[in-house]
Amino acid sequence: MAIKIYNTMTRKKEELVTRDDGKVSMYVCGPTVYNYIHLGNARTFLNFDVIRRYLEFVGYKVTFVQNVTDVDDKIINRANEEGTTADDVATRYRTAFEEDMDALGVKRPDIAPRATEHVPDMIEVISALVDQGNAYESGGDVYFEVSSFADYGKLSGRNVDEQQSNIQCGPEAERKRGTWDFALWKAAKPEEPSWDSPWGPGRPGWHIECSTMSMKYLGRCFDVHGGGLDLVFPHHENEIAQAEAYSGERFVKYWIHSGMLNIAQEKMSKSLGNIKMIREVLAEHDADTVRMLMLGTHYRSPLSFSDDSLSEARTSLERIQNCLFNIDDLSGRAPGPAGETFLTDRGTALLEALEEADTEFRSHMDDDFNSAAALGAIFGAVREINTYVGEIGSAEPYPPETAEVLARTRTFLLEHGGALGLMQEKRAEGPDIEGLARLAQETGVEPAGLETSADDLVELLLEKRQAARKEREFALSDQIRDGLAALGVRVEDVRDGYRWRFER
Ligand code: AMP
Ligand code: ZN
Repeated sequence: MAIKIYNTMTRKKEELVTRDDGKVSMYVCGPTVYNYIHLGNARTFLNFDVIRRYLEFVGYKVTFVQNVTDVDDKIINRANEEGTTADDVATRYRTAFEEDMDALGVKRPDIAPRATEHVPDMIEVISALVDQGNAYESGGDVYFEVSSFADYGKLSGRNVDEQQSNIQCGPEAERKRGTWDFALWKAAKPEEPSWDSPWGPGRPGWHIECSTMSMKYLGRCFDVHGGGLDLVFPHHENEIAQAEAYSGERFVKYWIHSGMLNIAQEKMSKSLGNIKMIREVLAEHDADTVRMLMLGTHYRSPLSFSDDSLSEARTSLERIQNCLFNIDDLSGRAPGPAGETFLTDRGTALLEALEEADTEFRSHMDDDFNSAAALGAIFGAVREINTYVGEIGSAEPYPPETAEVLARTRTFLLEHGGALGLMQEKRAEGPDIEGLARLAQETGVEPAGLETSADDLVELLLEKRQAARKEREFALSDQIRDGLAALGVRVEDVRDGYRWRFER
């Protein structure tokens, strides 16, 4: 079945037909780097990460471009407040953005163009717009003349002729011919970063940046353009006006907009001051919990955030993690021949259930990326797997199929979870032995020798924790539990003790 995408331009779900067979060209507006990103920004970036991953999961080769706005009023203001340069502020928060995205497991863009490195490209587009009569210079600024572009308003549905609400005053309003005209180029003010141009020294406006860089890397007409719903007007409307007036072609085939994350019924935003930085959240919750929270709501719907919603997400995630735990646990006890084996009825039924779950998963994701429903298909598989493991695992001898069937269930969970960005192999570099040794030292554990392995250290730490609990030294037992969790060791208490593994 083909993928259907809700296109903000047509307000309908449309079948995805890409410009180039088997390839998707995709641009998502990136951050303005003047502060750390908050949970609301993270929602948008995570949603587009899931869309990208799913397109890759079904076999598309995706080219993903995401800009970094590193020249802007907000960056300049911040630099002035701090008594530093705009470049310093932008570099600091661009690096922080990359760290946050990595910590969330968001795939890096294929190309992450920075505005400051593309000013000549923007000047070229602005010059063409001036030459064509779509833009005009006024007092060192250059404005796009909205009345010159007949299709203005087609994305947002706004009819600017009838709108009187944008009454403006001040020096910028005086320089503009029409109230809806917007700046492509801003004349330099003292102490601001600036570039030479045919209109004197200045800097580009925000909207022209995205039109220029997306066309440069993806072509004049590309497949998908995304961003948060709050960008539809004016940002994306203006992007369309600039790009289409410039190229004479349709700019984008599918406009995708991600819903807002709200807190107490209000949009989480820097200006309202109700923000939770993603760094603060990740200090207390792991990335998969945050991702699970986002996956539980359709990407276009508003998501109302509360601390409870994070603990609910944690509980859902644990259902999948525990299932993996069960699989690994039984695999350890039932090493059997891998490869073609005779299947019992139970094994056959489970593999069939996984195939059905796969079909269900795809049909939900194909339907405008309905991740919440797709998760339901994974949970269905989890139930079937747990039943199988419970039945097979309760009595030896295990059937010869066990290892093979378990390997397939594991692959199912990792691949389908992976299509949503969950349970990626974060620990490819192996367990953090130094971290474990440090924790052992801090909690008074005596390692046997220098060659002690990561597994041995975990065992020793867990023995110490058991002993501490017996002695009612709860501060120590909690310190060990939290320390191990931070090092990616997942411990589960079971009837006759505990079991553990390195988390995926
Ligand atoms: P900004 O740095 O403010 O331009 O925002 C970067 C991205 O985050 C844009 O795609 C915004 O649409 C998006 N965004 C901002 N606030 C929220 C929110 N509360 N919920 C979801 N996305 C948001
Ligand atoms: Zn943009």
